[in-house]
Amino acid sequence: MNLKTLFSKSFIFILIVSTFISCGSSSSSEELIAENNENTDEETAQTPPDTTTYTSVVEEYGQLSVSGNKILDKNGNPIQLRGMSFFWSQWIGKYYTPETVKWLKDDWECTVVRAAMAVDYEGYLANPEVEKAKVIAVVDAAIAEGIYVIIDWHDHEAEKHLEASKTFFAEMAEKYGDYPNIIYETYNEPLDVSWKTVLKPYHEAVIAEIRKFDADNIVVCGTRNWSQNVNDVIGNKINDENVAYTLHYYAATHKQPLRDIAALALNNNIALFVTEYGTTQASGDDSIDAEEAKIWWDFLDAHKISHCNWSIADKEELAAALIPGASATGGWAASDLTTSGNMVRNEIRAKNKAY
Ligand code: MG
Repeated sequence: MNLKTLFSKSFIFILIVSTFISCGSSSSSEELIAENNENTDEETAQTPPDTTTYTSVVEEYGQLSVSGNKILDKNGNPIQLRGMSFFWSQWIGKYYTPETVKWLKDDWECTVVRAAMAVDYEGYLANPEVEKAKVIAVVDAAIAEGIYVIIDWHDHEAEKHLEASKTFFAEMAEKYGDYPNIIYETYNEPLDVSWKTVLKPYHEAVIAEIRKFDADNIVVCGTRNWSQNVNDVIGNKINDENVAYTLHYYAATHKQPLRDIAALALNNNIALFVTEYGTTQASGDDSIDAEEAKIWWDFLDAHKISHCNWSIADKEELAAALIPGASATGGWAASDLTTSGNMVRNEIRAKNKAY
């Protein structure tokens, strides 16, 4: 082997080795890149960046369900709805209009409204068709606007009206059970009666009627003591997958002790829905506690608890969102809203996505 040959053979050898090393290192960095891509793909698969433009909240969230202490959208992501409750339908039913629902969606950016159908006091029991028509007007408008709507049996003694409640909810479920918009609230605010022997059997009987026509929409169940003792449900949940439990508060009256009860229920995997709250005292009047209202909103946000404020009404009381005589078809200026009305509208608009 002469020098030239040795040189060229060494050169070839070095070339081969360096190619091999370079191939090796290039292949392992390719693997690394591939691995990184794989990780990115996995992360992407878990939380896809949703760039779709949705025309409504119902189009985006779709069919809701309950899992553990959360309400989930159609993709299994926890969601939170914010909106307004109407007032007792028999007393201030004039706001149960498609125009008001549209205004609450467009201007207030509500993602949910609540039709509070009165039962007693010249409500549904006395005038079933009249009161039901008000609920239907709101539900049809909510479907048209693509927002969620709570059909609320607004009663303090519903266990005495079980047959009427079963008839009503069966009719609603048959009519609306295929719409993801609908949320059933079977009993607004029970008094101080037993969860185990009175309230739970009542809810189960009504849910059985609903489930004949609607297998899946969420039912929110009222709890003892004006829907405050959600802790009664611990170890005594209703045997239905899509049930949440009602928590009501009035910020100037109910404070940390009630949040402690709510937290206890949440820690026991109980899903809560605030179908009604006020910025005022429990009377709906007397004083507003803005600081406590904010503490409550922060608590609800932290736990993704949906909420509706009491109420769309022009009654002369602090909890009413509207001043006396405000239009029954929306279009309200800030001066048409009360102190509470402006506080709540600002909160909803600040937090909800606009569609
Ligand atoms: Mg359904």
